[in-house]
Amino acid sequence: MTNKRKATIGIVVHSSQTTADQDWSVVDIERHDRQRGKLSCGFHKIITRNGAVENGRHIEVSGLHLTDTTSSNFTNQNTIAICLIGGEPDCNFTYQQFVALKKLYDELTVKYGKLKIVGHNEIANTDMPRFNVNNFFTGSSTQSNHDT
Ligand SMILES: [Zn+2]
Repeated sequence: MTNKRKATIGIVVHSSQTTADQDWSVVDIERHDRQRGKLSCGFHKIITRNGAVENGRHIEVSGLHLTDTTSSNFTNQNTIAICLIGGEPDCNFTYQQFVALKKLYDELTVKYGKLKIVGHNEIANTDMPRFNVNNFFTGSSTQSNHDT
């Protein structure tokens, strides 16, 4: 396999920056990416509005989703890319998408071991995916920790 990923240390979550009524699938992402000069979908997994997980590029191949990651050691060569459909103009993702994201994360950690998951916005100068992914995964237990 050409361009096989050397290591897998983390997951980067992106968004398609489409509106809530744009019911995109991997086919639309591929067309969009081709128009921007990529040979195929730059992401490994796509999560559609109804929470379905679709396959983009092969999971073992390096992604094509990061360009400027000066504040991180994450690169295309050591991360898995997930794209949530939506994100324009704001964090308009569906409940099913968040459920699917958590489930997909669990599946990937079973396969690859412990993985750090971040949003593109946490490692590059971008808004995608309009929320703090790391907080979503690590800080979601504030209610149970609140004992004052
Ligand atoms: Zn992105």
